[in-house]
Amino acid sequence: MLFHQLKDRPVEEYMNSEATFISSDANMAEIEYQIIEKKQRIIPVIDRNDIKGVITRTDLLNYLVQHDKAVKRTDQLVFKKPNARKRQIANIMVQRLDDRTMDLLKTIGSAGDELGINLYVVGGFVRDLMLQRKVDDIDIVVEGDGITFAKYVAEKLNCRVNTHKKFGTAVIIFSDQVKVDVASARLEYYDFPAALPIVEKSSIKRDLARRDFTINTLALSLNAKTFGTMIDYFGASRDLKDKTIRTIHNLSFVEDPTRIFRAIKFANRFGFDIGKVTANLIRNAIKVDCFKNLSGLRVLSELKQIFSEEDPIPAIHTMTDYGLEKVIHPQLEITQPTYQMLESANKSLAWHDLLYVDGTYPRWAVYFMVLLNRCTFKVSEQICDRLMIPAGERQLLLETRYKAENRLSFIETNHPVSRQKLYWALINFNTVFILYIMSLTKNEAVRKDISNFYTDYRHVKPRIQGRDLIRIGVKPGPAFTKILNEVLNARLDGHLDTLEKEKAFAEEYARKNGLIYG
Ligand code: ATP
Ligand code: MG
Repeated sequence: MLFHQLKDRPVEEYMNSEATFISSDANMAEIEYQIIEKKQRIIPVIDRNDIKGVITRTDLLNYLVQHDKAVKRTDQLVFKKPNARKRQIANIMVQRLDDRTMDLLKTIGSAGDELGINLYVVGGFVRDLMLQRKVDDIDIVVEGDGITFAKYVAEKLNCRVNTHKKFGTAVIIFSDQVKVDVASARLEYYDFPAALPIVEKSSIKRDLARRDFTINTLALSLNAKTFGTMIDYFGASRDLKDKTIRTIHNLSFVEDPTRIFRAIKFANRFGFDIGKVTANLIRNAIKVDCFKNLSGLRVLSELKQIFSEEDPIPAIHTMTDYGLEKVIHPQLEITQPTYQMLESANKSLAWHDLLYVDGTYPRWAVYFMVLLNRCTFKVSEQICDRLMIPAGERQLLLETRYKAENRLSFIETNHPVSRQKLYWALINFNTVFILYIMSLTKNEAVRKDISNFYTDYRHVKPRIQGRDLIRIGVKPGPAFTKILNEVLNARLDGHLDTLEKEKAFAEEYARKNGLIYG
């Protein structure tokens, strides 16, 4: 059941220096021992020098999940680690957090005291606080029922709350749109085999143990008595100091392959390295095809996040170092010309964001289209299929992208083109496509023209209005559009600097073209 059919492949391929084989009658305990304890990625199954197959971590994990043992295993792996290191950081909180956030945390903490439950702010918030970065989402874990707690806080502070019964989570929404996520860490007891005594059964520890990387496992107590005590079970402080991304246990990526993308995202964002062991776990997970059963939606969501980072290029480099582009599509190649376009995309986006501070657009789409740029239409389509991109977005990434590329070719081949031509070539494309073609062109003058179109010409409109045309004797309908477009063209080319001139121009044009009745 657990065996892969890999008979034709040489045994050496699956061997590392300390490789062990097992025979086909090995029992589960032996397999678990080799894979979990001895950290062997893959075990060849050999009978009389004949390779029968291999057993991978994925196989083992699938087996354990099917037998409802995975959670217990994770617990066994992580609970063997020593107890928490604690540090009082209330002074750091006061220094680095604004008054509003401090008040909020204190209020939430005292609500916990009133209900007699322990609660913590966890994850990215504590990590970013320690890294002296801007904190955003507040994630709370309560040792008890998160929903009851969230409702209590919402009632007390007179604000809204959304609950998700199935997950035991809630979101408290404050009047200024600040959101606080609340999750439940329930006290759960498992019967562990007697041979593996569990030192501690703190539920916050169990909650943190399910997280992706050590740096995301910090918890900060909010109860009044212990307010500001930072709890570190898994060496998060050490890894923040060492600037290293590490998983909590060795089956982490097999358990959830999206963590591979997350590791790369965090490494890139913070300028951290991926730890040696963790990097090996990534390579192994990819080797055993851990993405095989991962839904395209989840891959897409991770890619969107990476491409929404300030500078995604180093992350894309790391992705290709691991060969992750092949997970997106076996024929996707990210080579030098693509990197040039990506660099150019960085510049286009920076240019835009400097001028339009409030303008929002899906940054990820520009980078994503650059990656698709050198693929054939068929491969692009297959990538959209694989990533389960919804119909609307798909059309934009395929058809609209091709149209934009064609317009760019037109502008490049006919350069210099008049403002009029530029306007009509580009007016139907939104910010994402304008930034995309600006990233593609290697012609500086073309780039300049497109940027001028974006900041300037696209806003040009005739001053003259419908009622002016009626006064001249034009009937509403297609004639209106025709005349207004002619006025617009004349304006784009720098004529008609007053309303009077526009009126005169419109009248003459209408007369010449027989558009006036009566
Ligand atoms: P960001 O600043 O990007 O929001 P974050 O650390 O807050 O970073 P989120 O994606 O918002 O990350 O997730 C919140 C927390 O949930 C993380 O800190 C992490 O502990 C946990 N988490 C998220 N995704 C996973 C995952 N795939 N596996 C395990 N834990 C995860
Ligand atoms: Mg977050």
